[in-house]
Amino acid sequence: MSCLFCKIIEGTIPSTTLYQDELCYAFADIDPKAPVHILIAPREHIASMAEAGRTDSALLGHLMWAAARIARANNLDKGYRVVVNTGPDGGQSVDHLHVHLLGGRAMAWPPG
Ligand code: 5GP
Ligand code: ZN
Repeated sequence: MSCLFCKIIEGTIPSTTLYQDELCYAFADIDPKAPVHILIAPREHIASMAEAGRTDSALLGHLMWAAARIARANNLDKGYRVVVNTGPDGGQSVDHLHVHLLGGRAMAWPPG
């Protein structure tokens, strides 16, 4: 498996673990775009939201729940942003589905 995030999840490539359970693995983004920038990825390889099927809906919900749990653990009481970049137009650069949790500063809208 040549996928970067699969290697991070299996531990072949080191990362800073911030949360994990049987379904997902959360780690610090190597190039943070906010004071808190955490990536939450399913252990199962799904390339992107565009590849997610009906049977993945519970897993997608779990990733959202994990983001909220991790946000609470990081005291993001003033709010935060959850982002899933998808495909070339969405700005996705790693083809393993992941949720960005960004916080610790006010976010602009609309995003670029
Ligand atoms: P995307 O652009 O696909 O939505 O997000 C990919 C994210 O992965 C980027 O924010 C990028 O900084 C992060 N990233 C890329 N390579 C690595 C790595 O080797 N380790 C970690 N921790 N993050 C990475
Ligand atoms: Zn993968």
